[in-house]
Amino acid sequence: MNCKNCGQEIDKKAVVCTGCGCKIKKPFYKKLWFWLIVVVVIAIVGSSSGGSDTSTNTTNKQAEVITYEVVDLQTMFDELDENAMKAESAYQDKYIEFQCKITNFDSDGRYIGVEPVNGSEWNFITAMCYIKDDAQKSFLIEKNVGDTITIKGQVKEIGEVLGYSIDIKEVY
Ligand SMILES: [Zn+2]
Repeated sequence: MNCKNCGQEIDKKAVVCTGCGCKIKKPFYKKLWFWLIVVVVIAIVGSSSGGSDTSTNTTNKQAEVITYEVVDLQTMFDELDENAMKAESAYQDKYIEFQCKITNFDSDGRYIGVEPVNGSEWNFITAMCYIKDDAQKSFLIEKNVGDTITIKGQVKEIGEVLGYSIDIKEVY
């Protein structure tokens, strides 16, 4: 490295020129404060973009993670029988998980009818569970009327005559 003032060759670490005695200015990129700023800027940019990434990830996860409330189908039937308005406000759009017994299959594979496992024999109310994908279909095609299954699903419709319509999310 040479002195900018007199051209004298000087040591890289020299603070003062050995030729003319002037102060040697280090290039900005060799100064500590420059790198401190670089680090801080990277940290800020990283945390802000990373931060927004994290928040979108969280929202995505929140959209994916559904909590299913474990319910008793017979209780749901009884509640609908007693007060359809109350049942609707309690279960409309709810994500529920319940055990049930298959009562019938739609031959076109659109839905199955189910009843409570240990329910009363004279349920006026029914529950129709709609098949939403091929995995559910291939699981259910192996089953028979009377088989017990567990369904995780979302209640789509509640009617005092038609009973519950439930979209199957998972069945096993
Ligand atoms: Zn010099």
